[in-house]
Amino acid sequence: MKAIAVFPETKEIHVVEHPEPQIEHPEQVKLRLLEVGVCGTDRHICALAFGTPPAHSEYLILGHEALAEVVAVGEAVTHLQPGDLVVPEVRRPCADPACRACQASHQDFCQTGTYTERGIKELHGYMAEYVVDDVHFLHPVPKALSQVAVLTEPLTIAEKALVQALQIQQRLPWQTSAATSAEPGSGLTAVVLGAGPIGLLGAMLFVIQGFDTYVYSRAQTPNDKADIVAAIGATYISAETTPMEAFKERVGQIDLVYEAMDAAPLAIEVLQNLNRNGIFIFTSGTNPKQPFGIDSAATLHNLTPQNQIIIGTVNAGPATFQSAIEHLGVFQQRWPAILPRLITERYPMERASEVLLQKPGGIKHVVTIG
Ligand SMILES: [Zn+2]
Ligand SMILES: [Zn+2]
Repeated sequence: MKAIAVFPETKEIHVVEHPEPQIEHPEQVKLRLLEVGVCGTDRHICALAFGTPPAHSEYLILGHEALAEVVAVGEAVTHLQPGDLVVPEVRRPCADPACRACQASHQDFCQTGTYTERGIKELHGYMAEYVVDDVHFLHPVPKALSQVAVLTEPLTIAEKALVQALQIQQRLPWQTSAATSAEPGSGLTAVVLGAGPIGLLGAMLFVIQGFDTYVYSRAQTPNDKADIVAAIGATYISAETTPMEAFKERVGQIDLVYEAMDAAPLAIEVLQNLNRNGIFIFTSGTNPKQPFGIDSAATLHNLTPQNQIIIGTVNAGPATFQSAIEHLGVFQQRWPAILPRLITERYPMERASEVLLQKPGGIKHVVTIG
């Protein structure tokens, strides 16, 4: 079968012939891949910044944001059947019995760091015609979501961020009743940094949770991302034309910041302007090879006197995949013409390198497998 692989030794990326996997255990499911989203992680792997092939393989099959169709199930699989659509999880637990996170199926919080990840770390990914996976890592998707379900995995980043923010902010008892309501963000202001797929999906999530939502991003208006932000009832503000002081004036108190941009200096500026009792969530990493100077005293100045929280979050567990699929359904009902616009273009496998080696303009780029 065909697959798209990166060869770290020879620095090549191309379509390979890879043995078609077969079901070998009763709890396995054979999948035919339909679509795989491309993100910065894939491009970092293609730039050989990280990513590790499985043991004894000279290449790594790429792809972790997948939508697939079930073609066969092992005999112990009861809740999936051929024709069903599924989204697979990315991270798999480590083998250390002392890792309480992985033992509790929370491998997104793995304590040893020896977890594996499909398409990233020591496991082949989903840019292949077929994959065999354990049923425990597959989440069924309604057929009505087939055109947008490839966005599930990027949405899980926002889902996990929100769950943690709501848990942590239960330290504020007067917000606790709101946190358990249908609109836990009611009366609160959320700022999303960045208008890429993770940012826009996060903005949609914050809007349906009742937050007064702002997206702060570089590009000047008018632009397509700003149009999408306006259409979902959030406010887009360009960092090019609205510097921090003016931004703060327009937004007022900032209760929650969801960082989804690779522009750490701007993120730090916003962090310095977080509200009392506010929470700042980092989802993108910084590159230690590209250090930037910050005024640490100014950055941390308000942390203690204003009861602020800073967290980092990565990956997602089973519950967040479930809620992402449910919320995609809510987005689709509420914004049927807007949600599909997050997918800018679909590329056949043969043209995948066009989106893996560089980032074309637009929002989410998807490789069509079958
Ligand atoms: Zn990704
Ligand atoms: Zn672990």
